[in-house]
Amino acid sequence: MIRINHLTDIDTIPAERLQALLGSAEQYLQTPKTCPTFPNAQMATLFYENSTRTRLSFQLASQRLNMPSLALDSHYSSVQKGESIEDTAANLVAMGINILVIRHPDSDAPQRLLDVVGKQAAIINAGSGTASHPTQALLDVLTILQHKRSLEALTIAIIGDILHSRVARSQIVLLHKLGVQSIRLIAPNALLPAEVASLPVDVYTDMTKGLQQTDVAICLRIQKERMPPSLFPDVQAYREQFGLTPEKCQLLKPDAIIMHPGPMNRGVEIDSAVADGAQSVILEQARNGVALRMAVLASAAEHLH
Ligand code: ASP
Repeated sequence: MIRINHLTDIDTIPAERLQALLGSAEQYLQTPKTCPTFPNAQMATLFYENSTRTRLSFQLASQRLNMPSLALDSHYSSVQKGESIEDTAANLVAMGINILVIRHPDSDAPQRLLDVVGKQAAIINAGSGTASHPTQALLDVLTILQHKRSLEALTIAIIGDILHSRVARSQIVLLHKLGVQSIRLIAPNALLPAEVASLPVDVYTDMTKGLQQTDVAICLRIQKERMPPSLFPDVQAYREQFGLTPEKCQLLKPDAIIMHPGPMNRGVEIDSAVADGAQSVILEQARNGVALRMAVLASAAEHLH
């Protein structure tokens, strides 16, 4: 039986395959003309939540691999008539789709597709609930590796709304798997998840302490759409305590890099002077997202032939 290369979660993928994906992505960036083509694969994106970078970079990635693709528009499809993601996926696979890229508010959505059509199609998670966003974590590591020689000795701080962040959850698993010794979470208590004590991280509720000696500062968006207004009463107070301002950046190592998965709330979790400043690699993350997703799609498509 052919083993299909799904990517539903970082936990389930061996470190060697994760390294191989990072290696292929870097190669596509270095020598874009030599990337493989997959005219026989058929990708469909199923996005049940908004997206700019992830959705368009999967589309760009499929174009660059000469891989036919289409996008389900959840606002105009039978999703509005109540069709389940399982039935939607089964019908797309019946039409010949063999790579399904899913973004969904339910954390278990990729697993549900895996259960229904995982033997016929590769399932790629493009962000599931608050649980997991594996391609974002991978493109973030790709970006870090372009600036820092090795991961192990780095101190990496993830700052802000950890509670609602699938990005943070996937980053923690990936960074730990790849040997990073010092992962810090910096957040107010109200934005830390209950499981924090069991994670391989050091927790700081004080930015001044948490940012010191940090090599990589990753800001997270305040996800207002996932929280009651009472959890985030005062934007100005949050910016003062946890927003990455030029003054707070002085605490980082001088050669530190600053990241954000986007979209940014400028003036809340990150000031424009920092987001657009010399240490920011935020647009490099966006660029790397295309190459990383090419690597993920190519690896899925290779096993479909
Ligand atoms: N774009 C990322 C995600 O989909 C981060 C965010 O929305 O804040 O999870």
